Amino acid sequence: MTTRPPTRPEIETASLVLAKIATADQWAAKPDAAMAVTWAECFAVHDLQRADLLPAVVRLYADDKRDKANRTLPADVIVWARKLRQERMEREKASGEIDKAALAASRREIAECPVCDPNGWVESAGGALVKCRHSKQVGA
Ligand SMILES: [Zn+2]
Repeated sequence: MTTRPPTRPEIETASLVLAKIATADQWAAKPDAAMAVTWAECFAVHDLQRADLLPAVVRLYADDKRDKANRTLPADVIVWARKLRQERMEREKASGEIDKAALAASRREIAECPVCDPNGWVESAGGALVKCRHSKQVGA
């Protein structure tokens, strides 16, 4: 965690977060430019970005176990945004591994296929290159 000046897009994101909070919470402070800078500084400590911060506001206000007497502070949004970022990164990592597995299976099919070239292409009856269906067309 480091303290750094927020970028202009980060300040714009903080303004959007504050505007969204105001739509969910009629008692929230009226957002202004100085607030946006301070909230952006807090978000920047955790390198949080818009894709995780805006959904975090929804999750924060949808949390029925939250103490409703509390004012919303930057840290309340940060807790949810970090959780959402973690979930998103895990989803991306998982889908990346699935893609790698699918690619490996496709390479194995090509290697085991007696018909197609190393890129999985085969010449059709008309002389055009088409994607090989591998063993599915052998003997067909
Ligand atoms: Zn093949």
